[in-house]
Amino acid sequence: MARKKFIAGNWKMNTTLEEAVALAKGVADAVGKQSDVDVAVCPPYISLSAVAEAVKGSNVKLGAQDVHWEAKGAFTGKVSCAMLKSVGVTYVIIGHSEQRQYFGETDETVNKKIKAALAAGLLPIVCVGETLDERKGGKMDAVIERQTRGAFVDISAGDAAKCTIAYEPVWAIGTGETATPQQANEAHIFIRNILTQLYGKETADGLRIQYGGSMKPDNAKELLAQSDVDGGLIGGAALKAGDFAGIVQPK
Ligand code: PEP
Repeated sequence: MARKKFIAGNWKMNTTLEEAVALAKGVADAVGKQSDVDVAVCPPYISLSAVAEAVKGSNVKLGAQDVHWEAKGAFTGKVSCAMLKSVGVTYVIIGHSEQRQYFGETDETVNKKIKAALAAGLLPIVCVGETLDERKGGKMDAVIERQTRGAFVDISAGDAAKCTIAYEPVWAIGTGETATPQQANEAHIFIRNILTQLYGKETADGLRIQYGGSMKPDNAKELLAQSDVDGGLIGGAALKAGDFAGIVQPK
């Protein structure tokens, strides 16, 4: 099945309001007219509205970096799905390794967030991936399987089909280390097999699996040429419009 590639930029805790608007305009100018690849940018919460305005009329969609599962109330510092919808967000990253590593994200909270996002009409980008210790200790498959199955507990095939998975080996995030195209593809095929067990071949074949981990213009082409690499979740290289565009349209 032909899956349209999907490249999303995760700006993490970078960019002031002014910088975010400038970067968003740069991305929209560079790749906002093409429609061969789905493109999204995920700025910090405080810049979502302004970035929505900056990419208006282009094919660049807006994503958020996280969301809380509760609808409203006494949850200081948190942002709900309805709030994200109200400023024009389409996608939401859920379960990023930095959330898991530093902020207590678990497979259970990932699952709650995915359910809340889907109920609100947001499209989750669900992150899974092993640490270096887990890989070296031969636990890679078990970790990826636990995270993938945990994310999709009690989620129907119809809802799962609205999700994107991002395979992000933690050891390759922000380190300059990249999984080889073969390593990435093997992990993607492993994840797709789990999705096939959960939802059947048709749904699993339709789901997009992005690779994330030091993807750059000069390694994007080979990674994206793999059979099961359907796009990228980009950190560092998403902070320069030219680099990000070079991944959307690699030479
Ligand atoms: C990420 O954190 O999602 C990521 C892939 O970061 P980087 O591209 O900087 O490795």
